[in-house]
Amino acid sequence: MSINNLGEFAHTWEAIREDYDTLSNDEYDQSVLDCAARLAADPAGQTAYAWTLGLVLMAPYLGYAIDDTGKPEAVAVLHAADSALHHHPCAHDTPALDLAVATSQDRPECLLAVHAVAAYAASDMCEAPSVLKELINALEKTLPHYADATCGHTQHTEPPRWAPDLAELGIQLSSPGGRARYERTRRQDEDPPLENLLCPVTLARIAQDSLKSLRSRHSQLIADPDAEDAAGATAA
Ligand SMILES: [Zn+2]
Ligand SMILES: [Zn+2]
Repeated sequence: MSINNLGEFAHTWEAIREDYDTLSNDEYDQSVLDCAARLAADPAGQTAYAWTLGLVLMAPYLGYAIDDTGKPEAVAVLHAADSALHHHPCAHDTPALDLAVATSQDRPECLLAVHAVAAYAASDMCEAPSVLKELINALEKTLPHYADATCGHTQHTEPPRWAPDLAELGIQLSSPGGRARYERTRRQDEDPPLENLLCPVTLARIAQDSLKSLRSRHSQLIADPDAEDAAGATAA
């Protein structure tokens, strides 16, 4: 599966995320179980990052839902994926490498895909410095392409700060179908037009933002791989 086939899944995940304050919904539970099963089938595979993002996007619903359907599966498979990626030695089937070798034409969508993965990777859910390092390297190679970025916009809207929002936006804008849907459904007063969001100046800032949060998470993990244990020990 390439990033372009994500549209349909992303649409489902977004809908569940928007409707997260739902006590119980069999269809939502089924989407969680399906996503968890796909990730469990190949936790270090080419599409692992997409299923991981799906679970991240559906996590607010899992947190709200009153019954526990899907919760143990989601947690177990995220741990499995994290440890599988932890031991993955190369970058050749990750979006990080897609970005590193992107042409000027497909660079924006590769950058947004990496941005989406970075939102997950920079969160507490990822404990693999090697995954962070791959993304950092890819972004460092990409930034020079945007060094001279200019545009005619008078202002740019801040990208969302919260990891699931970032992931949702990145995943939506990384496919042509998702971009078309964004234009159709955006709220005129709140969401920037696509050409403003995808302008080189915004992309450069998005890349810098991702890089900053990835570097900070990376150095945190390098400095103290057992940060949670250490915090507990200090408190005791
Ligand atoms: Zn590989
Ligand atoms: Zn602009």
